[in-house]
Amino acid sequence: MMKIRIQAIIDTDNQKSIIEDIACLERDELTAETLGLTLNDAKVISAEIQRKMIKHQMKDFICHHRFCLCCGAVHHIKGYNTLNYRTLFGKIILENPRLETCQCQPQSQSSFSPISSILTEHISPGLSYLEAKWASLVSYGQTVKLLEEVLPLEAHPSSIFNNLKNVSTRLEAEVGEEKYAYIEGCQRDWNQLPRPDTPITVCLDGGYVHAREGNNRKAGWFEVIVGKSMQEDHDPKRFGYVANYEKKPKRKLYEMLHAQGLQLNQDIIL
Ligand SMILES: [Zn+2]
Repeated sequence: MMKIRIQAIIDTDNQKSIIEDIACLERDELTAETLGLTLNDAKVISAEIQRKMIKHQMKDFICHHRFCLCCGAVHHIKGYNTLNYRTLFGKIILENPRLETCQCQPQSQSSFSPISSILTEHISPGLSYLEAKWASLVSYGQTVKLLEEVLPLEAHPSSIFNNLKNVSTRLEAEVGEEKYAYIEGCQRDWNQLPRPDTPITVCLDGGYVHAREGNNRKAGWFEVIVGKSMQEDHDPKRFGYVANYEKKPKRKLYEMLHAQGLQLNQDIIL
């Protein structure tokens, strides 16, 4: 029998090292299955490291924010609430203190929460990225299964939907305004443009998606326009939009071509 104990050693500026137990793995007879880490071991270890690491990071963060930056007085704790923070390695319930505003500061707000000012969303950027990526490729249900299979977390289709909606709203807001035309300059300017090194192929297609339920197939249908541009030695770029809803179709196409490094000239009329 072999026991492998995994510990984390946490060093901070003004404290002596803290040792946290993470996991204890037991191995008996050596087989292909017992050699090295299993997926479940990795989940248990990463979830426990996450819990302990966040606990200490939070403690350290609150300690630093207990004192007023201007006069050094202590911010008294007004109360606590909890904050559910979803991460790649499990949901963490954070104790979120509200601190009283120092007397030396304008009293526009009587208290403030240092943690809420850092964690503006209740999902870590890493998990938000993975959820949005997979939910845009496969169904919400499949995304849940995929994430739960490889990571120590519980996923729910509704929270993935909400996250994807937030991410897409943010991306939409970053897309510039629609314009009547995107070609600038004149023939003389266009003649000066360097020739692209390799050809760029742009494919555009569209299709109708019909609602699964409803009185007839026409209820709830929508038209999807998709495009892809490809160039040797470059990553392909894609775009898509729902024709009935999209307010900036030319802009979407322009952004895709621009991302591909294509210079718009007289050959391409948007
Ligand atoms: Zn102060």
